Amino acid sequence: MVITTTITDSKEHLHSTFASRYVRAPLPRFKMPESSMPKEAAYQIVNDELMLDGNPRLNLASFVTTWMEPECDKLIMSSVNKNYVDMDEYPVTTELQNRCVNMIAHLFNAPVGDDETAVGVSTVGSSEAIMLAGLAFKRKWQAKRKAEGKPYDKPNIVTGANVQVCWEKFARYFEVELKEVKLKEGYYVMNPKEAVEMVDENTICVAAILGSTLTGEFEDVKLLNKLLTEKNEETGWDTPIHVDAASGGFIAPFLYPDLEWDFRLPLVKSINVSGHKYGLVYAGVGWVIWRSKDDLPEELVFHINYLGSDQPTFTLNFSKGSSQIIAQYYQFIRLGFEGYKSIMENCMESAKVLKEGIEKTGLFDIVSKDVGVPLVAFSLKDSSGYTVFQVAESLRRFGWIVPAYTMPPNAEHIAVLRVVIREDFSHGLAERLVSDIEKVLKELDALPPRLLTKTAHVSAVANETARVNPEEGQHLKENITETQREIARYWRRISNKKTSGVC
Ligand SMILES: *Cc1c(COP(=O)(O)O)cnc(C)c1O
Repeated sequence: MVITTTITDSKEHLHSTFASRYVRAPLPRFKMPESSMPKEAAYQIVNDELMLDGNPRLNLASFVTTWMEPECDKLIMSSVNKNYVDMDEYPVTTELQNRCVNMIAHLFNAPVGDDETAVGVSTVGSSEAIMLAGLAFKRKWQAKRKAEGKPYDKPNIVTGANVQVCWEKFARYFEVELKEVKLKEGYYVMNPKEAVEMVDENTICVAAILGSTLTGEFEDVKLLNKLLTEKNEETGWDTPIHVDAASGGFIAPFLYPDLEWDFRLPLVKSINVSGHKYGLVYAGVGWVIWRSKDDLPEELVFHINYLGSDQPTFTLNFSKGSSQIIAQYYQFIRLGFEGYKSIMENCMESAKVLKEGIEKTGLFDIVSKDVGVPLVAFSLKDSSGYTVFQVAESLRRFGWIVPAYTMPPNAEHIAVLRVVIREDFSHGLAERLVSDIEKVLKELDALPPRLLTKTAHVSAVANETARVNPEEGQHLKENITETQREIARYWRRISNKKTSGVC
């Protein structure tokens, strides 16, 4: 490769080859290099190092969009230098965000008229949206407690133990206690009855999830609304509901229009959704919508004078890009209700192909549900020979990135693999993945029985030994139990590090 230097330096040849000059020195890692380098060389170095990243399209761990139409890529590139916060300079971009807010509010059945402006804002993602919604609940609760002359220093939120890590962030950053309803084997979402039992006078909201990160399952918001209404009537509190619809917010309206989870339920005061998940935009956009103006305390809103009129803003960051908002508007008008519906139906269809293929191996239990976000979560029926972590590790060789993780309390002993189906994951790829899973299982089965992993095999030996010589058999059995515990501890350590990576 020949790279033309841009500076004429008598000591340098005008044409240095890439290998002869730029890759000789180690890559700068700690200190900014002393001197400049030609743009072509910088490009090549960065580009080459990035070749070692995984392929985003094969990243089955993520809900986040990895493919958009070239026309939209063009719009994104042409607005990449626009700072969203300069609303006076870019009034059309602001208008596009307002239109998106209106469209999403209608999709979620907010009580707004056909040509009324809805209350909401674009964010960097659902995490920022959840920080804002949580703050609004905290302020409203505090104001009410103050007015009643009651203490307001111990706010809490009730959620399921399956919440996404951003709720734990919110709780820690904004000093709100997170009261988690524990899960149990076979039931991996928040139980509405137990949640309502945990609600007390300090509860600022109950957060329900539409599309649990772990299994894609929708929580029963309608039942939660009913039980919480009863409790509110009994106690005189008015504990509200927030719905974290990060992944399900762009699934349910298209696939399950009759499912009541949104503003049709009176206690639902705010909803967040990730534009960059099933909103079908690249990473960097989320939305939070409030039921009405009354649900967003005025003191949290900043007012920007925008072309002589008032533009309220309520975000954590000041500057941010405009591209994602523009791309979201593109998707809304390009696809329309019809387009979103058929994409989501297609994703469900691919999920079904994959699920059936995995079931056919006979070795897995499916823990995801048919109604929910298009994903397949599955656990090994028998982990004595090898674990889901080994299956995930082996699939990497074929290029597939499939996460494996243990469930939150009290279902930590269940470890699952999860494949998220996105728009760009076709039936063909689903079939291919099934065949690669089958290959991996065959390989793992053929591994020589090692004491560490083949505990099932060793158990049989121990039983036989115990029959012949009880004392020795007992000793062997204790060893095996200890070995099994050791394995469980090992994988838990690894997966504890990994659980926060599931998003
Ligand atoms: C992805 C996700 C989040 C976080 O959303 P980001 O847009 O990545 O910030 C929160 N809650 C749930 C249920 C999610 O699936």
